[in-house]
Amino acid sequence: MSTQEHANKSGFETRAIHAGYEPDPMTGAVIPPIYATSTYKQDGVGGMRGGYEYSRSGNPTRTALEGVLAALEQGERAFAFASGLAAEDTLLRSVCRPGDHVVIPDDAYGGTYRLFDKVAKVWGLDHSPAAVSDVDAVRAAIQPGRTKVVWVETPTNPLLNIGDIEALASVAHDAGALLVVDNTFASPYLQQPITLGADVVVHSTTKYCGGHSDVVGGALVVRDLDIAEKVAFHQNSMGAVPGPFDAFLTHRGLKTLGVRMDRHCDNAEKIVEFLSGHAKVSQVIYPGLAEHPGHAVASKQMKRYGGIVSFRVTGGEQLALDVCGKAEVFTLGESLGGVESLIEHPGRMTHASVAGTDLEVPADLVRLSVGIETVDDLLGDLDRALG
Ligand SMILES: *Cc1c(COP(=O)(O)O)cnc(C)c1O
Repeated sequence: MSTQEHANKSGFETRAIHAGYEPDPMTGAVIPPIYATSTYKQDGVGGMRGGYEYSRSGNPTRTALEGVLAALEQGERAFAFASGLAAEDTLLRSVCRPGDHVVIPDDAYGGTYRLFDKVAKVWGLDHSPAAVSDVDAVRAAIQPGRTKVVWVETPTNPLLNIGDIEALASVAHDAGALLVVDNTFASPYLQQPITLGADVVVHSTTKYCGGHSDVVGGALVVRDLDIAEKVAFHQNSMGAVPGPFDAFLTHRGLKTLGVRMDRHCDNAEKIVEFLSGHAKVSQVIYPGLAEHPGHAVASKQMKRYGGIVSFRVTGGEQLALDVCGKAEVFTLGESLGGVESLIEHPGRMTHASVAGTDLEVPADLVRLSVGIETVDDLLGDLDRALG
């Protein structure tokens, strides 16, 4: 068996490190080189080596990344993109047509909502929002015959609502629609939607997959060859591919996903415990807490509960803003999923654009992306900031 065949039958961390790439036959390089080339010499007209003809269509550094992504999500094939939103746009144009309809989360990631509401809608793709935690609401939002995709995020941002992937897959499939799961928040280490019935997994690899806040990227992982063919055609036709250096960075990040996620979860659990006992905290939102409404479903479909923790403070918006301003080890900033801890005020930052709509988030809410620093330093920082 080759290293790669071995990897495909192995545990998660082995796949993360070995799937998708054989040490280079000529040099033995254990890491895929950054193939900074736009084109490839052909051995006679049409005589391509390994199928490579032009780097929009294929590049070996990107092929290695796509191989590992497919192995981690247990999909048929994976496709890498220049960003999460580029992946989403390519998917929509691959599987939807003008006049079609899509059900989206009523608390979708802001950029995803904007793509549906301000871009896809203009081209004739309609959407209805529904709460992912309410299977009946999702079923009711489906327009039989017209709905082609049920789009789910779980956990959602920033309130960490949980959707039951298995139940939602059967609702989508009963209506002849595809179930698409944005798995950015859980990462493939904590949750593998294709094994639960999803047809397509979307990632912003910018977050946990890359994991070091040094690269923007996206991915689609698909369950079957039919969708794979459509996505492959559109990936090449639309051209929103990552360059080889970006593909290299994301691939490098994925190798340590398992150990990073476990530390993200360890630290998040200790922070949840600390915040739950703090006098200035009125509510801690984390799917790992028994009182979280999605706890049972999260326990069924996730390995652990992730690195994002949201909480509300007793002192209203001003205290929430003060905590964000006073934190020092937690960096004030948007995004999530990197090794460094981040803190933000969703109402004024990531979710400012949904103020005044149904998607508005509480003003006293703070969101943490818990990093992998020494947990005592993170606890001390929060204690000071809440002080
Ligand atoms: C960041 C994010 C996206 C968008 O990805 P980009 O890489 O920023 O284009 C999509 N979905 C979720 C859940 C995200 O957090």
